[in-house]
Amino acid sequence: MEQRRRLVTAIPGPRSQELMARKKAAVAFGVGTTMPVFAAGAGGGVVVDVDGNHLIDLGSGIAVTSVGASDPRVVAAVTEQVRAFTHTCFMVTPYEGYVAVAEALNRLTPGTHDKRTALFNSGAEAVENAVKIARLATGRPAVAVFDHAYHGRTNLTMAMTAKSMPYKHGFGPFAPEVYRAPLSYPYRDGGLSGADAAARAIDQLDKQVGAANLAALVIEPIQGEGGFITPAPGFLPALAGWCREHGVVFIADEVQTGFARTGAWFASEHENVVPDLIVTAKGIAGGLPLSAVTGRAEIMDAAHTGGLGGTYGGNPLACAAALAAIETIEQDGLIARAGRIGELLTARLSALRDGDPRIGDIRGRGAMIAVELVEADSGRPDAALAKAVAAAAHRRGVIVLTCGTYGNVLRFLPPLTISDDLLHDALDVLGEALAG
Ligand SMILES: *Cc1c(COP(=O)(O)O)cnc(C)c1O
Repeated sequence: MEQRRRLVTAIPGPRSQELMARKKAAVAFGVGTTMPVFAAGAGGGVVVDVDGNHLIDLGSGIAVTSVGASDPRVVAAVTEQVRAFTHTCFMVTPYEGYVAVAEALNRLTPGTHDKRTALFNSGAEAVENAVKIARLATGRPAVAVFDHAYHGRTNLTMAMTAKSMPYKHGFGPFAPEVYRAPLSYPYRDGGLSGADAAARAIDQLDKQVGAANLAALVIEPIQGEGGFITPAPGFLPALAGWCREHGVVFIADEVQTGFARTGAWFASEHENVVPDLIVTAKGIAGGLPLSAVTGRAEIMDAAHTGGLGGTYGGNPLACAAALAAIETIEQDGLIARAGRIGELLTARLSALRDGDPRIGDIRGRGAMIAVELVEADSGRPDAALAKAVAAAAHRRGVIVLTCGTYGNVLRFLPPLTISDDLLHDALDVLGEALAG
């Protein structure tokens, strides 16, 4: 696939407009789309739409296709598996691929302790299972989560997710025993140190919930949908230390930050945090639906036989894809590549910020970088600007996503296989979009 941005129609083109009309008539209104175009192909750093437009992909389908959307090793592994068998159900007739993925996750996740893994389909399903396991292992009911958190759209994970519109609005009542603590948000909390922000959160949990009632504390090392908020150094280690002291299971939700995205296998590594349980999905399997809970053997094995599972969990095609994606990350040096993408993005965005006070903050790690857009005079979140800049970039052939509690954050999650040339072209477009 040609690795170049090339527009042959207006965005959206006629074929996409036709399909969008069919979508309106056939697909539930609640299922929105970021882009007004329909995909026909994707590879490297490019998505080709049904009208033949080549778009630069700064989203990876929300941090999923980190090894590219059509990596030949993933395609070959899935093709071979689909010929062998598509499904037997691991709980009925198990197969090697599932075990091999569990072994790989036990090896790659932080910490050298004895680990076990269980596989599921989606990030939300894995988060739910991590909470189930922590509750059974501790015999406690409560779960601590944070401001700006995103953990999914199922009933328990809606309760854990912070933002009402669009994720929760009108969909309640929500699951009980979920308690929210304040985060470390360096750009907006007056430069509170990581230790002080952790002390504030711990004090609140201590007073309002009580450590003895807490089964688990669940946190994204860098928040995804919440705005790529990167806590001040020391925040995560202090929380992990408090959990250890009080028998609270520390669960890292690395659904978005995992699998090389931040320039490490897992973002917890940047601060030498060893989670008790780690939840993974998104970038795990080169685009096939797969998720996992990995963690300390004594916690994971607390659940009785038959207590964990699901019809499709650890589907053989998804497992084959995951093994190929992991091999690709290792062989192609994609962890180091994520670091270099971060340097390039940060340098280009910093240059844009010089002389543009609307770029309030640049943050993130590796190939997970965001800018927070604000009103120049007041510093207030400017969601309208983020929306306008994203829409202008879309019209010029760059797929870029927004996020954040206030909707004022542009986030960059390119495939790790994207070329520097494409990144520079996309940043040129972003500069034009910001200039209006
Ligand atoms: C996307 C996401 C989820 C939910 O994953 P799904 O596969 O959409 O259910 C959970 N946690 C985080 C941090 C995510 O980014």
